[in-house]
Amino acid sequence: MLEAIGYWFNDRAPSAYPRPQKLVGGVDAKTRKAIVAYLRAGKTLETYRGKSYCRFACGESDMGHRDYTDGVFAWPEGLPHYVEKHEVRLPAHFVAHALSGAPYLEPKVKRIDDAPWIKWGAQQGADVDLIGWDALSWDDQKKVLERLHGKLAPGHPLHAQQLEVLLGRRLTDELLVLLPDARMARVRLLDGKATLLSGWDDWDAR
Ligand SMILES: [Zn+2]
Repeated sequence: MLEAIGYWFNDRAPSAYPRPQKLVGGVDAKTRKAIVAYLRAGKTLETYRGKSYCRFACGESDMGHRDYTDGVFAWPEGLPHYVEKHEVRLPAHFVAHALSGAPYLEPKVKRIDDAPWIKWGAQQGADVDLIGWDALSWDDQKKVLERLHGKLAPGHPLHAQQLEVLLGRRLTDELLVLLPDARMARVRLLDGKATLLSGWDDWDAR
């Protein structure tokens, strides 16, 4: 299997993937330049319809819509942008491979293993703690939103807002919702008590 690198946490579909915001620094300019050149020269593994976006929201719109490979690793086409513009670091064993002059090989299999990448991200402290929180099915999202809107009186910060359910926590009957202005709110279904968060930097699962 190909080893995944450079797949990031999605603000709107939380997962175990790391946040690149937590992986900035630690690589000198010369090495970064070599890594960027290596990543850009990857071979196309897969092409998607949907376009990627920069997690730093820097305004870059050309983030690609392919996966690349060298026959050993697989990465999204937009990964060099993170290394070049945002100085994001990547696993040392990948960097060693990239700088070793090893040839690009045709992949024998197309399957991607993301377990080592997730593990590395967690070791770097770049993962998001989601313990106790789960994604909800489409049906459950609709049901809990109806319940929630019934609790929100005029004047409540979430009243009459278009909300998107990101996660739910059964233990305390809480929801994490996304607001139209990209802020998030952690809200109790019992009484609608809400805590507003500016984004994932403010997140605390407990
Ligand atoms: Zn960017």
